[in-house]
Amino acid sequence: MYPTKNQEEMVNKHLGACRYVYNWGLEYKIRTYNETGKSISRFDLNKEITILKQSEVWLKEINSQSLQGATLNLDNAFTKFFREKKGFPHFKSKKNRVQSFNVPQNYKVDFNNNKIYLPKIGWIKTKLHRQFKGIQQTATSSMTNTGKYYISILIDDKKSLPEKVKFNQKTTIGLDMGLTHFLITSNGVKVNNPRPFKQQLKRLKREQRKLSRKQKGSNNREKQKLKISRIHERIRNIRNDFQHKLSKSIVCENQAISIEKLNIKGMLRNHNLSQSISDVGWAGFIDKLEYKCEWYGKTLLKLGQFEPSSKICSNCGYHNCNLKLHHREWICPKCEKKHDRDVNAAVNIRDFAMNKQNLISTVGTTEF
Ligand SMILES: [Zn+2]
Repeated sequence: MYPTKNQEEMVNKHLGACRYVYNWGLEYKIRTYNETGKSISRFDLNKEITILKQSEVWLKEINSQSLQGATLNLDNAFTKFFREKKGFPHFKSKKNRVQSFNVPQNYKVDFNNNKIYLPKIGWIKTKLHRQFKGIQQTATSSMTNTGKYYISILIDDKKSLPEKVKFNQKTTIGLDMGLTHFLITSNGVKVNNPRPFKQQLKRLKREQRKLSRKQKGSNNREKQKLKISRIHERIRNIRNDFQHKLSKSIVCENQAISIEKLNIKGMLRNHNLSQSISDVGWAGFIDKLEYKCEWYGKTLLKLGQFEPSSKICSNCGYHNCNLKLHHREWICPKCEKKHDRDVNAAVNIRDFAMNKQNLISTVGTTEF
């Protein structure tokens, strides 16, 4: 979105107000729970907003549906905490990389003139990437720390997801994710890391040194911070682009994909590995594989970590206990097949998943 100066001011007010209401609601919920042992519902919070507006008059300028959208977000954060065992909801900070607010309804999209209407803000010039058909649901407006504005619109197109395509060993691919390569497939293809972070690291370090020399609170320091945020943004863009292209081609070319569940958090604790791991961003890649499989009717098979995928001969099943991390190639003492360590692991990841799939195919679950 390309808001005018006035609109920008209003958008920023909405961002601030929704963050304020979210934090107020979180604090309110915690306090009520500590004092009474009871939880307070979103509907009760929404009633309280009306009272809150009497002391915080500036909230009256804000679309009240957006304020209620903030309590809905808070509700969702608690649902994730209880049901999916995700972390306890955090207070939102002004310093977060992306700030956003919801517009649940009463917004309009004008494809002919490339404009979007937001209540209390007006028609904003917007680059609309594609036309959609369906029922408009919540729109989310956001601003990045590089000063860019975006809007994403949730559309219900009433279409259901395609049925899952049948697969067998031939049409299934195993992926081994390692640090030497981004991933290695059971077909023997090795995909290199884009390592965008490394490429930009030198630049980033230089700019960060400059930042440390700027006076706190000065204009120049703010300018320098923006410069650094832009480098980070560029890194994220390169990484996302790479992951989107790779995940799409893998999902389209295969009927099922088998991967090992990575213990990324555990790996991040290992400091040497952590830089490379957060750099390549497997978690984001697996997310993309997961939803693209849903879109295209493909199956994602996830193996647990307990399988010694690199130490077992994919040809005869021999367990090579002597295999160390630096052994990139090895010959199976039993069947004498020569293995590339990572390709062998990828083949095992495919085959273990296939075997388990056969055992439990009647249940139809895909996660072991
Ligand atoms: Zn063997």
